[in-house]
Formats: sequence, structure tokens, C-alpha cells
Amino acid sequence: KKSKAVAVDALYNEISAGSRLHLSKGITILESMQQTDKVAGQELLRKLLPKTGSSIRIGITGVPGAGKSTFIETFGLRLAEEGHKVAVLAIDPSSTVTGGSILGDKTRMERLARHPNAFIRPSPSSGTLGGVHKKTRETMLLCEAAGYDIILVETVGVGQSETVVRGMVDFFMLLVLTGAGDELQGMKKGIMELADSIIVHKADGDNLKLAKKTVREYRQLLHFLQPATPGWMSNSIPVSSLKNTGFDDVWSTITEFKEKMEVSGMWHQRRQSQTKDWFQSMIRDRLIDNFFAETGMKERVSGLEQRLLTGEMTVASAVDQILPSKKNDD
Ligand code: GDP
Repeated sequence: KKSKAVAVDALYNEISAGSRLHLSKGITILESMQQTDKVAGQELLRKLLPKTGSSIRIGITGVPGAGKSTFIETFGLRLAEEGHKVAVLAIDPSSTVTGGSILGDKTRMERLARHPNAFIRPSPSSGTLGGVHKKTRETMLLCEAAGYDIILVETVGVGQSETVVRGMVDFFMLLVLTGAGDELQGMKKGIMELADSIIVHKADGDNLKLAKKTVREYRQLLHFLQPATPGWMSNSIPVSSLKNTGFDDVWSTITEFKEKMEVSGMWHQRRQSQTKDWFQSMIRDRLIDNFFAETGMKERVSGLEQRLLTGEMTVASAVDQILPSKKNDD
């Protein structure tokens, strides 16, 4: 028991001093399912908490092939060169289900990974989206305590993970390719309404003219959409990671956003409501885990399922049998 306490203190000191090796170790402990690690991880996080919160948290989404990793590497290198400390995290919805990965593995972003001001952590590969979400949030806090002032959280825009990421960042970017009209046909409108900025990516070569036209189309469209952040008019920017163009606009957009939202109070307000939402969703996760962990519960549930399927009982009465409602006024 004592040796654990010593390890947490040492980790605390090393992470506070900016050691990437110990930051990695700390994250591994937070991701661990072992009970002793869980205790140590929470102890570490509690100690580091006063050092967290001062970064800009930026979410980046887009379909596979939109150029997310190329964008993040170019953008991250630029910020790292300017003296920022950049952490890149990922939420990969595929890896939580199949163990496979849409976002790819550690071999991506090699140049950024070698930069002394950068830290890249691949997506946690086990658990539900909710569980991965929790780990990524805690990882973000650890990175902040280690002095990272820019956190980039990458996800694939194909499911619910973009909503999850929106719920943990200050600024959210959507990477799209040319052809705004087509995008709007599908379910993309929902994703567009999460974005503080829509980046029309690969705006280079033969594609440049069309990209600029697409930017104009998005700018018009954005006027008709619900703003992602109250008090902020979402914009659209052409960017080429290949040619390294558009990043001045991206960065000035982010800094302007931060200034405005700090003045209006929205910055602080959003973070507070994100923390409350996180708390609420962890309560729900814990309730569900505890419920199914009760002895005999899985058998009872599947027994009731059988009776539902044969039409013996209603869904609501089956639920009442295993989980009587505490409210008597329904
Ligand atoms: P991801 O799946 O969204 O992470 O996409 P990748 O970053 O792996 O990029 C997909 C492909 O697009 C790769 O072949 C890249 O070389 C290419 N690509 C990325 N950025 C640009 C860009 O700015 N311009 C052009 N022309 N191609 C790009």
C-alpha cells in the first residue's frame, strides 16, 4: 500500500515537471481496469487537478480521408514551432466496438510525434464510447497538468463520437471536402450545427477554385443554422495542409473565439456545464454497471426477455419486475 502512495507522488512530480514518459505512465494507470491502479489514478488526478484547465481544447472531426491527421500534423507542428505545447488525443468509435481502428495507429503524424513540444496519445481501445469518453477527458486533464496548452481531440464524423467530443472541447472544427450541396443532403446538418468552424480542406491545385466556391456556400448556409456556440457566428475557411495555407486564419479564428467567449462568459459557462454533464453521465454509467453486476441479474433479464417475445407480458411490466419505479405518481 505504501509503495503505491510513493509512486503517485513521484508521478505527480514528474508529470508536473513535464515528463512525457511519466505523462504516458499516468494515462496508462487511468486507463487501467485494475482496482489498485484505479485508486492510484484517481489520487493522481485529484492532486493534479489544480494544475488543469488552462489549455484551449479543440475538437476536430471529418469523414475518413478528409485529411484529419495531415491537418493535425501540419497545424500541430506550426503551433509547436511557435512554442506551444500540443497534445493530440483521439476518440475512435470503431476501436470501441471491433478493436479495429478507423483513425489508424501510432505510426501516423510521425513528424509531429518527434517534436519535443508535442505529445500524441492513440485512442484507448477498450470500453464503450462512454468509457472511452471518460478516459479521454481524464487524459486531457493530465496533459494540461503537464503543461500542454493546446489539446487537439480527433474523431471520425461517422457516428455519435462527434457529439461526445463536442461535449469535451471549447472549439469544434469540421473538416469537409468540396461540394457543400451534397453534404447538406445527408445527416451532415446535425454535425454542421456542432461546428464553430467548417474547414474546406485540400484547397490546393486543381481543387482550389472549387474549394473557394464551397467556402462561400458554407458561409451562406451557416447563416441559416443554429450557432454551435451562442454569440459566435461559425465561419468557413479554405485550408491546404499540403501547401500549408489557411492556418493563419484557423489560428486567428480560434484566438478570436477564445477572447470573445471569455468576455461574454460563455467560455467558463460551457466548461462548467461540460463538467456537470460529465458528472451526470458518470452517475448513469455507474448505475447501469452496478445494476447489471447484481448477482442473477443477467439471467433475470434474459428470462423476462423470453416472456416478452412470447407476448406474455408488456415491456413496461417486465421493467417493473426487475426495477420497480421509486416514483408513485406516474
Ligand atoms: P484522415 O483519414 O482524415 O486522417 O485523412 P489523412 O490525413 O490520412 O489524409 C487522406 C489523404 O488526403 C492522404 O492521401 C493525404 O495525403 C491527402 N491530403 C491530406 N491533406 C491534404 C491537402 O491539404 N491537400 C491534398 N491535395 N491532399 C491532402
